[in-house]
Amino acid sequence: MALPVVAIIGRPNVGKSTLFNRLAGRRIAIVSDIPGTTRDRVSIDAEWGRYRYLVVDTAGVEDQPHNELMWDDIKAQVEIALNQADAIIFVVDVNDGVTNADRDAANMVRRAEKPVVLAANKADTLSREDMIYEFFELGLGDPHPISAYHDTGIGDLMQNVFEQLPPFEDQPIGQNSIRVAIAGRPNAGKSALFNAMTGEERAIVSPVAGTTRDTVDSLFDYEGTRITFLDTAGLRRRGKAEAGIEKYSAIRAIGAIERCYVVVLVLDATEFVTAQDQHIGGYIDDASRATVVVINKWDLANELGLVKAEAAEAVRNRFKFIPDVPIVFTSALKGWGVDTLLPTILEVFGEFSKQMPRAEVSRVIFDAMGENPLPGIGTRRPRIYRCIQSRTSPPTFQFTARNPELIHFSYRRYLENQLRERFGFKGSPLRMTFQSREDE
Ligand code: GDP
Ligand code: GDP
Repeated sequence: MALPVVAIIGRPNVGKSTLFNRLAGRRIAIVSDIPGTTRDRVSIDAEWGRYRYLVVDTAGVEDQPHNELMWDDIKAQVEIALNQADAIIFVVDVNDGVTNADRDAANMVRRAEKPVVLAANKADTLSREDMIYEFFELGLGDPHPISAYHDTGIGDLMQNVFEQLPPFEDQPIGQNSIRVAIAGRPNAGKSALFNAMTGEERAIVSPVAGTTRDTVDSLFDYEGTRITFLDTAGLRRRGKAEAGIEKYSAIRAIGAIERCYVVVLVLDATEFVTAQDQHIGGYIDDASRATVVVINKWDLANELGLVKAEAAEAVRNRFKFIPDVPIVFTSALKGWGVDTLLPTILEVFGEFSKQMPRAEVSRVIFDAMGENPLPGIGTRRPRIYRCIQSRTSPPTFQFTARNPELIHFSYRRYLENQLRERFGFKGSPLRMTFQSREDE
């Protein structure tokens, strides 16, 4: 399912940040520190009713620009938000009334012809709610009185946002296809790699418009298997993105990671592993997706003095959440490694979605405990009664135990290793849950 991007814009101090905090879920990422902006935060798991979305707390529009340069920067920021987001929440402050900066920004917003809702914030009391009417002059529709601080009016506001977005039901993503996200820093070679994988003799079956306007997925046939590359609009478009667009491509990449089964994380051989790569690794870890790491631009390896074994070790040390993550060395430029990458994606997907027989799972766990008995703490002992694979994608093992809280992290790791040794799950995260049951 495509996650729509909702951007919050408005002057400094109107309460954007407060509103963002109200809407945001647990997982918040800082996606850029463009000069002249206070912050650019995105929340990955915002939810409203049955909807999930990405909410972005974007730059403020200055009322008194200190200098032209900064004002231009901010305008550019708002422009980008308008182009890239699926809906806009335009925040004003009822105490201040309509300011010139509000008018300027409203003019920009109207031109963008995007769904927009006007949030008249700090309407903390009924008498202040009466002050919202002057905001009609902005020409952005009905002002919605809210108090971000007191958490009032936000339900109606969000209702209005979602009424303006296309319905989520028409999601054309192939159900019987493997959903793949290509993630990585700008310039790592994602576009080149995407083109190398799908280009020439292997034509794209069809670009499928996603539920949100700017999302374009590419459905692709690889030797009889259907693969949907998610949100490829940015990858299919040639030419270099302007600064700032990168921020939104980072946001969209996060959305794609949420929707996919397999992430292809593209690293640049000329500069790896950077903090930004590790950030992306963090999202993948959070989302528990299967992963293939690509080290691209390997045609430059000699020049850079890189050797495969060392590069692989450096990667594995940094991405510990998937032990033994498959690493493919490519040169999108020369077409190297592309023939390994596609089968690796299929293989990793197979591991991610496989279900192991109940009896075998049991045997692995009981054998492991036989070889290396569960230690207790003092007179208290944990005991495992049962282990089943409760689900796939990601593979999840559910343990029923007495005193599960006494099962030490290192022992859990040992059990995970035994499961991996027996069953593989290459490139896949593995989840283990423990539920308590007394006296069996
Ligand atoms: P931003 O610069 O637009 O992100 O604004 P902030 O979210 O940082 O808020 C600016 C100030 O307004 C802070 O002191 C907030 O506590 C305050 N504020 C935010 N929302 C409300 C509200 O609904 N009512 C009142 N009275 N104050 C608010
Ligand atoms: P994206 O921003 O991740 O989509 O990166 P692009 O695919 O646009 O590539 C960024 C730059 O790296 C371009 O100038 C490419 O020509 C170059 N590039 C991509 N793949 C390779 C490669 O395998 N080897 C070399 N030497 N350059 C590459």
